[in-house]
Amino acid sequence: MRQVSGHTARRRFGQNFLVAPGVIRGIVDAIAPRRDDRMVEIGPGLGALTEPLLACLDHLHVVEIDRDLIARLRRRFPADRLSIHEGDALAFDFGSLGAPLRIVGNLPYNISTPLLFHLAGFAERIGDMHFMLQKEVVDRMAAAPGSGDFGRLSVMLQYRFHVECLFPVPPEAFDPAPKVDSAIVRLIPRAAAERTARDEEVLARVVAAAFSQRRKMLRNTLREMIPADGLTALGIAPTARAEDLAVADFVALANSLS
Ligand code: SAM
Repeated sequence: MRQVSGHTARRRFGQNFLVAPGVIRGIVDAIAPRRDDRMVEIGPGLGALTEPLLACLDHLHVVEIDRDLIARLRRRFPADRLSIHEGDALAFDFGSLGAPLRIVGNLPYNISTPLLFHLAGFAERIGDMHFMLQKEVVDRMAAAPGSGDFGRLSVMLQYRFHVECLFPVPPEAFDPAPKVDSAIVRLIPRAAAERTARDEEVLARVVAAAFSQRRKMLRNTLREMIPADGLTALGIAPTARAEDLAVADFVALANSLS
């Protein structure tokens, strides 16, 4: 087990701590905190981002699951500047912190996809989000239609957020070093007027069905939901595959059902 600053890094909590000062500075610059921002950091860990963020902010919230790290954070930062929420970010009510909320974090990679779906549920209350993630996940989040990376995650996130990959981060920036490359991604919620799905649950079901077998044609994957001539009526070729459609096509499909 790897020791980092006297802490045993726990793999089950996805603990890869940032240790490269240049990368840390680049992330804080990209976030550009303003003193009165309402901000929450997910997984502060040993405080690599927490400390420089707090230097720019009046107050910061953090959500951390590891009790040993929580004890260290309590000793290091004054309670009136840092509010520590102990527990699982996947179950945390981000709506309870008020709005507009800025969310940041070097996320535990093992829970990044479910966490992104959890956060998407709070899109209305979010100002923006900046995350360190596995580069492969960022590529899927930001993928354009027609690319092999374009999938359920791309559609569901791009429907709610503008997604922008900011810069890559190599494994050497962390201790312990992960086996994969990472990247910083920025997500900014779209205005309500841009989100035109009548029922977002229907949209989620259509997208899940369309990508359930991504090599198959839509007339097969969506057979239970919409007949081939219904696809044609929407200007969508029944022989197209899910990865050929734009986000707006999925919205049109969902709206034809709801
Ligand atoms: N922010 C630190 C840094 O950049 O060095 C630590 C990042 S480390 C990749 C991920 C952090 O998230 C760890 O502190 C870990 O304990 C915490 N974590 C893991 N799973 C979590 C969960 N479900 N809820 C909240 N925090 C979690």
